[in-house]
Amino acid sequence: MSTILVVGEHLDGELKKASAQTVGFARAAAAINNGEVVGLLIGSNLDGVAAAFATTGVDRVIVVDEPTYANYLAENHTPAVVAIARDVGASIIATPATTTGRDFLPRVAAALDAGMVSDVIEVYNDANAGLAYKRPIWAGNLIEKVSSSADVTCVTVRTTNFAAPEPVAAVGVDKRSLGLGQAAQAEFVAFQQVKSDRPALTDASVVISGGRGLKSAEAFGMLEELADKLGGAIGASRAAVDSGYAPNDWQVGQTGKIVAPNLYIAVAISGAIQHLAGMKGSKVIVAINKDAEAPIFQVADFGLVADAFKVVPEINEKL
Ligand code: FAD
Repeated sequence: MSTILVVGEHLDGELKKASAQTVGFARAAAAINNGEVVGLLIGSNLDGVAAAFATTGVDRVIVVDEPTYANYLAENHTPAVVAIARDVGASIIATPATTTGRDFLPRVAAALDAGMVSDVIEVYNDANAGLAYKRPIWAGNLIEKVSSSADVTCVTVRTTNFAAPEPVAAVGVDKRSLGLGQAAQAEFVAFQQVKSDRPALTDASVVISGGRGLKSAEAFGMLEELADKLGGAIGASRAAVDSGYAPNDWQVGQTGKIVAPNLYIAVAISGAIQHLAGMKGSKVIVAINKDAEAPIFQVADFGLVADAFKVVPEINEKL
């Protein structure tokens, strides 16, 4: 039986939603190759996180809980994942396609001489190749079908394309001690986390994004008011970020964050393909733009051709 190893992500004692969505990917793969899904957590003081991971639909959980891993460093994380992957005989190693996943998983692939498939949006049964993957290329304009002939394949998962399985009764948690110690070539200095009372952009069910048409950082204030009324997160186009109107961790798109909320409101965003690549999977898209020809209206479910400075305060008022 093949083993699919899901490396979970966590922060501040919380399991990230993306980890459960990656289990969704793993279950879909397991349904094709009849595999076992093993969850792996690496960190320090992980009891709460492990208990949460144990209910996400994995068949069992392995936890490497040592002070060495208190702060994420790819140089420390990689040998730990490699050791567990070898131990369980993993044929697929999956992790969310986040900054962290993209940082360590290619290193794992190199260490194991494994195949590497990035940004997977679908797993399917190919008539010739068996288990195969779909991934977007060219800013999402084409979908590539990929299969891997390697004994081990590392997969980063575009988690917005996979639903987390329904929570199940907790499975067993197996604590391992690797004793590998700190990597010599890297040292943890600091983690500068952006703290916000709003939901994380990639987890939010409502996202309100602003573009260059807002013309100032102050104008994002009306979007923040709207986000607070709807319990949403704030996003931005790259042009708004480059213009200094919004911080770069708000950027949505090909070179920013990929989001797929229930409701995405694009305000004064033209709808360039690189922006659409990060949000076109949203369930309902609302566009507010004063140019009726703006490409964003081609993907919008609801469009409002209007001046944002007039209508956003009106919407806030009505709400
Ligand atoms: P503009 O294209 O300038 O559009 C502004 C819009 O605001 C216009 O449609 C205008 O009609 C409207 N507007 C103006 N005033 C008002 C008003 N008062 N009320 C209502 N509407 C108004 N972009 C991203 O967003 N994310 C990415 O990750 C990204 N990655 C990129 C990667 C590469 C390699 C490249 C080459 C580009 C990338 N871009 C990305 C940039 C992208 O091509 C666009 O330049 C950018 O998305 C445009 O941002 P915008 O829509 O805010 O600005």
